[in-house]
Amino acid sequence: MKNAEWLKVSISTEKFEEIRDFIEDYSLNTVCQSADCPNIGECFAKKTATFMIMGNICTRGCRYCSVPKGKPLPLDKDEPKRLAQAVEKLGLKFAVVTSVTRDDLPDGGASHFAQVISEIKKLPGNVKVEVLVPDFLGVEESIRIVAEASPEVFGHNIETIPEFYSRIRPKAIYKRSLDVLRKAKEINPSLVTKSGIMLGFGEQEEDVVKVMKDLREVDCDIMTLGQYLRPSTKQVEVVEYVTPEKFKRYEEIGYSLGFKFVASGPLVRSSYRAEEAYLKAKEN
Ligand code: SF4
Ligand code: SF4
Repeated sequence: MKNAEWLKVSISTEKFEEIRDFIEDYSLNTVCQSADCPNIGECFAKKTATFMIMGNICTRGCRYCSVPKGKPLPLDKDEPKRLAQAVEKLGLKFAVVTSVTRDDLPDGGASHFAQVISEIKKLPGNVKVEVLVPDFLGVEESIRIVAEASPEVFGHNIETIPEFYSRIRPKAIYKRSLDVLRKAKEINPSLVTKSGIMLGFGEQEEDVVKVMKDLREVDCDIMTLGQYLRPSTKQVEVVEYVTPEKFKRYEEIGYSLGFKFVASGPLVRSSYRAEEAYLKAKEN
């Protein structure tokens, strides 16, 4: 299916190259690059990036994702410090950190996340942290380790409607993902919780609204909705390019259901304008 007109973006190459080279110098990964995010020009130009920790090989293999599946490398113990140094050097006031899924690690990488949060919080200037975590196989202790490290935002993406999990997200469980968000909030009620979904796999409006209601049931504060874009011919095809008008409608429905902030648009990704989403959620 040919890309819709509203998905075309322009890239400021100079800034883009500067940030890309900087991230490479620190031997860090960003999801911006690994997931071929369409906002990379805009975000890198604004010195915003989403760091991907614990390597760039995932144990899961979701059918829409371009991150390679396989046996990940051992954890890099220096990564939390190096990442914090990069955040400081880039002058970020709000850092977004995510990871591949590490089902091979006993705690799923929860302690590594906690160390990253702790190192960033040691920086001067009250830098805020948003984490977008895997489901940790639903293990409460792992969720606790991250929630008690007190990131400002605790995110876990639901990604698609439950009916599509077995087809495109075969190793995940819809209810388990909802429970990750519910448990995190129960453990640390000061957390702002956040989740996101991609549209364009063939879901119907009532399916999307049902997901929104399920997220509100677990007291999720922020929701993002964006268009799925096929990274390469190896991933599942786009079934539909959802119109900007339809995204707007989902935004209105989201607010009517009680989300504190909803970002809904073709190019929205869970970390897109993350600081703005956090600040607005705190206001409401
Ligand atoms: Fe990176 Fe998120 Fe921006 Fe995409 S939206 S480029 S993943 S910070
Ligand atoms: Fe990609 Fe995340 Fe799925 Fe791993 S768990 S394949 S990184 S979407």
